[in-house]
Amino acid sequence: MNERKHFDLIVIGAGTGGTGVARMTAAAGWKVAVVDHLPYGGTCALRGCDPKKMLIAVTEGVDWARNLKGKGLEAQTSIDWPTMIAFKRTFTDAMPGRIETGLEKAGVVALHGQARFTGQNTIEVNGEPLTARHFHIATGARPMTLNIPGEELLITSTDFLELPERPDRVVFVGVGDCAPPRGVASDAGDDRVGLGCRDQSAMTGRLMGWPSNSVRVSRGM
Ligand SMILES: Cc1cc2nc3c(=O)[nH]c(=O)nc-3n(C[C@H](O)[C@H](O)[C@H](O)COP(=O)(O)OP(=O)(O)OC[C@H]3O[C@@H](n4cnc5c(N)ncnc54)[C@H](O)[C@@H]3O)c2cc1C
Repeated sequence: MNERKHFDLIVIGAGTGGTGVARMTAAAGWKVAVVDHLPYGGTCALRGCDPKKMLIAVTEGVDWARNLKGKGLEAQTSIDWPTMIAFKRTFTDAMPGRIETGLEKAGVVALHGQARFTGQNTIEVNGEPLTARHFHIATGARPMTLNIPGEELLITSTDFLELPERPDRVVFVGVGDCAPPRGVASDAGDDRVGLGCRDQSAMTGRLMGWPSNSVRVSRGM
C-alpha cells in the first residue's frame, strides 16, 4: 500500500461541513486528506453566509442613517456597489489560502480536484487513486433547477454576489437564506425589487424590515 495515498479518512468537500471534521480527526491522530475541486472554504465562506453578511452590514448602515434622519442624525448615505463588492472580496479572496494553510498546519493533506468513487474504499482525483478506511462526504448543494421557461436567463446567488454593478431592477425567486440581502432594496427606489415565493408564511417572516416602497411581492410558482 502506498502510504502517501492511503488515509484513515478522506473528506470530500472543503466547506464548513468538511473542514471541521478533518481538523478534529487529524487532531485525534488520524491521517486525513481533504479534497475539493473549487477553492477551499465552500459555500458559507465564499459565496453564502459570510459575503452575504458583509453586504448586509453595508446596507444596514444606509438603513440606519435613513431611519434616523430628522431624529438627530443628518447624513446622506447611498451604496457604492463596486466598492461594496471589493470590500466583500477582501474577505472571500483571502479565505481559501487561510483555510488551506490552517488545515495543513493541523496535519491535513489538502488536495485539489473532483473526487469520484471507483470502489468501496477508493476514490480517484485527477486520475489518481486514493484509498481510505473512511470517507466523509460533505459536498454541499447546488442551486435548485426550476424547470420553468427562460430558466437559462436567471443567475444564481453566487453570480449575484459577483455582479460588478447593482442591477436597476431585480426579481429574487425564493426568499430563503440564500436570497441576497434586503439591503439591495434599501437603495433601489420605488418598486425596483420583486420577490417571488411559494410559501406565504415564510415570506411574512422574512419581509420584516424590508423597505416597503422598494419591494413588490408575488406569491405562487
Ligand atoms: C447566498 C447564500 C447565503 C447563505 N446564508 C446562510 C446563512 O446566513 N446562515 C446559514 O446557516 N446558512 C446559510 N447558507 C447555507 C450555507 O452556506 C450552507 O448550508 C453551508 O455552506 C453548507 O456547507 P457544506 O460544507 O455542507 O457544503 P459547501 O460549503 O457547499 O461545501 C461543499 C464543497 O464540496 C465541493 N465538492 C462537491 N462535490 C465535489 C466532488 N465530487 N469532489 C470534490 N469536491 C466537491 C464543492 O466544491 C464545495 O466546495 C447560505 C447559502 C447561500 C448560497
